[in-house]
Amino acid sequence: MSPSSVGVMIELEGLTKRYGEKIAVNNLTFTVRPGIVTGFLGPNGAGKSTTMRMMLGLDRPTAGDVRIDGKHYDQLKDPLKYIGALLDAKAVHGGRTAFNHLLCLAQSNGIPKQRVHEVLDTVGLTAVAKKKAKGFSLGMGQRLGIAAALLGDPQILMFDEPVNGLDPEGIHWIRTLMKSLAAQGRTVFVSSHLMSEMALTADHLVVIGQGRLLADTSMADFIARNSRSYVRVRSPQREKLLDVLHQAGLTAQDAGDGALEVDGGKAEYIGELAARHQLVLHELSPQQASLEEAFMQLTAESVEYHAHSGTPAAPQQWGEGWKKG
Ligand code: ADP
Ligand code: MG
Repeated sequence: MSPSSVGVMIELEGLTKRYGEKIAVNNLTFTVRPGIVTGFLGPNGAGKSTTMRMMLGLDRPTAGDVRIDGKHYDQLKDPLKYIGALLDAKAVHGGRTAFNHLLCLAQSNGIPKQRVHEVLDTVGLTAVAKKKAKGFSLGMGQRLGIAAALLGDPQILMFDEPVNGLDPEGIHWIRTLMKSLAAQGRTVFVSSHLMSEMALTADHLVVIGQGRLLADTSMADFIARNSRSYVRVRSPQREKLLDVLHQAGLTAQDAGDGALEVDGGKAEYIGELAARHQLVLHELSPQQASLEEAFMQLTAESVEYHAHSGTPAAPQQWGEGWKKG
């Protein structure tokens, strides 16, 4: 059976990988859907590459499983026609030309030679097809890796940190390519440790920290929920100000540098409230938390979860000893 034309789903169910005492991937359950770019985000060491290797059948799960179009990777007939992956661009045999590298892959997978010309054209390497891959720049090597991933015209594409070390033009090219592959109805799964990169590329976001699932949400939702706006307020009469804010129903968090981060009211309102109670303010400034901060806070909490092994930590309000850093 060939991959269905309606799009192929990848389903992870309780996926777990242990290396001795270390749990690299911890009970991950999520679904990667066709027609969109799904970003797989987590700090270095979070377990992204390990998860992707298990998805590709390159590593055996300790528990749980991965199903592609309802089947295990080993049960797929012609796996290259289902999934193309870019894991490590340096895995190219340097002595071969770009063309021969792709031709070998094509021949061992029953893919016609004509397809090699097509993918070289897609990634913009036609002019250097007869050059040896070992002379390639990082960006060219990355393009060659992507050409290999596209060879079987797969419904699923997986890219592990594809923009690492690329120049802005290369990054832009990969971003555009991923979006166009998704627009063709393919399933595109791409990892990164950079929130800023995901925000520009992904429609859906799966966030992990310390091997655990932290968020599985649309990008739009993540942005809406995490673009917290608040007001930084600093006063030499901090305790009195806190009382006044609480009485007015506003919540305040410790900013970590003596200032307060106040939610629930505009700067004008807070300023008037302080004036009414004759409180001196040294700072009153509206702020917009960045997505990068939201990501860091989310993953920092996963560290805390492990440290206390209790309930998952929620952002705490000022007064419960919450400190940044
Ligand atoms: P990421 O790709 O998100 O940076 P990895 O999947 O590479 O994370 O690694 C997750 C964790 O598993 C890390 O702590 C890493 O050191 C550990 N790990 C990965 N592969 C192995 C291995 N083959 N043996 C032992 N530990 C490993
Ligand atoms: Mg990795």
